[in-house]
Amino acid sequence: MKTYSLTQSDHELISMALDVLERNFDDGVYNHTVGGAIRCKNGKVYLGVNCDGIHGSCAEYIAIGAAITAGERDFDTIVATHDKAHNCLVPPCGNCRQMLFKYCPDIKVILNDEKGNSVKVEVKDLLPLAYKRIVVSD
Ligand SMILES: [Zn+2]
Repeated sequence: MKTYSLTQSDHELISMALDVLERNFDDGVYNHTVGGAIRCKNGKVYLGVNCDGIHGSCAEYIAIGAAITAGERDFDTIVATHDKAHNCLVPPCGNCRQMLFKYCPDIKVILNDEKGNSVKVEVKDLLPLAYKRIVVSD
């Protein structure tokens, strides 16, 4: 798997994700325990925290939903955070990996590698042999 070193703007993205979590943290009623941040290719950043519920939504979903709602379609990098996680980084769940692969197959994801180092990887490497929608033409 190809990995990339974190840039200054990646560290800023992590800080923004931790900040939105700190401002909205709730481990009781609403279970807001993960903060997410997505940077678009134009440099704009959108934030989110996970939302609890029967199905729930991960912080990555909320962040990309905010970006899409604002009209964004080109995404560069995403991160999910928890202040107690190793390096404060939370890897995307399988559902988020599939969603990211669909919306932005070239997005990079910040997470910890096998050695515990903070790195950036391509989402396609997190989901080998991914499901792709079958398009049937008439
Ligand atoms: Zn998820």
